[in-house]
Amino acid sequence: MSYFDDYVADGLCCQVCGAYIDGDEPGFPRTCEDCIQFEEQEVKKQQLRKKSKKLLEEVEKKLQANNINYVLKNPNTGHFHTRTKYDNQLIEYYAFTGKISIVGQIQKPRGIKALLEILLRKTKNKKINKGGTNENSSK
Ligand SMILES: [Zn+2]
Repeated sequence: MSYFDDYVADGLCCQVCGAYIDGDEPGFPRTCEDCIQFEEQEVKKQQLRKKSKKLLEEVEKKLQANNINYVLKNPNTGHFHTRTKYDNQLIEYYAFTGKISIVGQIQKPRGIKALLEILLRKTKNKKINKGGTNENSSK
């Protein structure tokens, strides 16, 4: 055991990064504030990644269940290219924000329900009826 190992074992230095903490030597290993914060951030990031992944999976499941042609263009932004059943028109969908875009025009309704309504519509999408149900978010 080196001196350094002793410092860590006694809690003088951080057990993760080895930085000198606050001069106390409580007699057990400790982690410095910075490392604790870093760990918490990592945990949060991981949770966010998991959540994002789950959301993408849910969207894909729903599209598949409705036999929609789609391509996930960018998993980092949740950007989908989907095709309407009636006339194979491209509808862009951003799963994380619920944004729906038709030929570059952002639609008022958002979320997966609104998207499915548009994709399954039996008329051409050029005439978009404005009075659609306004269901916010995907949940
Ligand atoms: Zn540390």
